[in-house]
Amino acid sequence: MKITEVRVILTCPGRNHLFVKIMTDEPGIYGIGEGTLNNSEPIVAKAVEHLSQLIIGRDPAQIEDIWHTLYFSGYWRGGPVFMTAIAAIDFALWDIKGKVAGLPVYQLLGGRSRQGVPVYTHGQGPSIEAVEDSVRALMEKGYKFVRAQLSGSFGSYGGGGVVKHEDSTVPGHKGTDFYNFVPYTRTVPAMFDHLRSKLGFEINLLHDVHEQLTPIEAAQLARSLEPYRLFFLEDALRPEQKAYFGMLRQSTTTPLAIGEIITSRWDALELFQNHWVDFIRTAPIHVGGITEIRKICILADSYFVRTAFHGAHDLGPIGQAAAVHVGLSIPNLGVQEWVEFGDQTREVVSGLCYFEDGLVYPQEKPGLGVDIDEEAAKKYPYQQAYFTTKRLWDGTAHPY
Ligand code: MG
Repeated sequence: MKITEVRVILTCPGRNHLFVKIMTDEPGIYGIGEGTLNNSEPIVAKAVEHLSQLIIGRDPAQIEDIWHTLYFSGYWRGGPVFMTAIAAIDFALWDIKGKVAGLPVYQLLGGRSRQGVPVYTHGQGPSIEAVEDSVRALMEKGYKFVRAQLSGSFGSYGGGGVVKHEDSTVPGHKGTDFYNFVPYTRTVPAMFDHLRSKLGFEINLLHDVHEQLTPIEAAQLARSLEPYRLFFLEDALRPEQKAYFGMLRQSTTTPLAIGEIITSRWDALELFQNHWVDFIRTAPIHVGGITEIRKICILADSYFVRTAFHGAHDLGPIGQAAAVHVGLSIPNLGVQEWVEFGDQTREVVSGLCYFEDGLVYPQEKPGLGVDIDEEAAKKYPYQQAYFTTKRLWDGTAHPY
């Protein structure tokens, strides 16, 4: 069998996505992949097109060799754009291998390690009481793990710390909302105090700091959350603050999950070797696909670290399916982040994974179980977009 064509599909069915379809010379056998990267998809698309010249004419069964051929192809290696482009191709190759074998991808990875994949989703609201209502509603739907966030002007990140500065005198920022860590780090423990008193300790609660604190603020917050027994505190620090991961770890017994935006096996290995984390957040889509995440999962297991693959709306249903196939098969799954997709996305992609009583399942079909309707994708043209820069009260740009 030979790869004959690599199709790159940029589309925005409610959210920007990059999908990939790899065609072969075998009638009816093609692979589906995804390289969504939070508004950087046009750059990933160029990278996929560039790399595709190396794989056209090759046997799609040689996944490991193709992965390394692509990885070494530019001399410079790694980075989010490049690793996501490799992932998009890698997913499609595993999809093809599953179709040829007549087996779901998780069967090729060693088979089921569990019934389904435990997932957490997002509970949020503008007040502590509204968050309680949101978490309660999700518990009634069967969720056993819920991320609790106060919402504000920046989505659900920094909620409780978003300050209205209607009278700001900062030029250009009058009327803008600002982020302030002091109310944020005071409101979050108050929120969990309320949730635990109303909902008890059986529900697994999580919180995402989203990299918005200084190292010492992160340590203060993590320590103040200890009585509420979080399942984990997510991204309390950002990768650039690596020198403080050890300090944070030594400061608290709150379990820590880090790694949502790292893109290298060796960045992950450092987290494990230094015992800095309990959960690794890196998702297959941003680290080179199934081929690479398998290795990261094995390294993590060696250090008793469990997975918590990133899975918010900034990646699509194909990247989600790939993560579910991996999560179903590995021994050291912790939990997976889970979101449902809307009608427009479901019009473009079929065969999505599905939620049932706290667990998520892939389709029992050969390959990843997903498919793309290319004509439907054309109905939703890609929308160029960028991340919003958050600001402090004096107008200083703040990392998201
Ligand atoms: Mg996160």
